[in-house]
Formats: sequence, structure tokens, C-alpha cells
Amino acid sequence: MAVCWRCPVCSEVSCEEDVTLTGPVSCDHCDRPFPQKETLCTVCDSPNPWARRDSIHFLCRECGTTQMFLSHRAQAS
Ligand SMILES: [Zn+2]
Ligand SMILES: [Zn+2]
Repeated sequence: MAVCWRCPVCSEVSCEEDVTLTGPVSCDHCDRPFPQKETLCTVCDSPNPWARRDSIHFLCRECGTTQMFLSHRAQAS
């Protein structure tokens, strides 16, 4: 699993695998790059809602949805 976001242009959801990503993210659907602060919550569509709670948990400041990073290794077991 990864942290997912909604594209402000095409409204499709993309997911980021890299928890340490700090630069722009690119939409899987329209291939546009966005600064992370322009991405939208997949649930409530707030811009840049993700607050980092700890190393793997991200919490939406607006709707409270939590996303968690899990490594592929952990997921495959
Ligand atoms: Zn897009
Ligand atoms: Zn939200």
C-alpha cells in the first residue's frame, strides 16, 4: 500500500510508493507533475491535507482519514 492522492486536473487517484518523496508527484493518469501541496485528499478533496503522524502514518487534516505505508515485503506475506 502507498499514500494515495486525487489529481486536481483529471480527478483520478494516484498512489506514491516512496514514503520519503519530497519533490513533485506525477499523476498516473494524465502524466502531469504536481507539487505535493496541490494534490487532493482522495476522500474529502481538500488540497494538501496530509499531515505526517509518524514515519508511516499520514492523517488528513480535514476528514481524519489515515493512510499508512506498508512495504511490499510486509504485504506479500
Ligand atoms: Zn491526472
Ligand atoms: Zn480528507
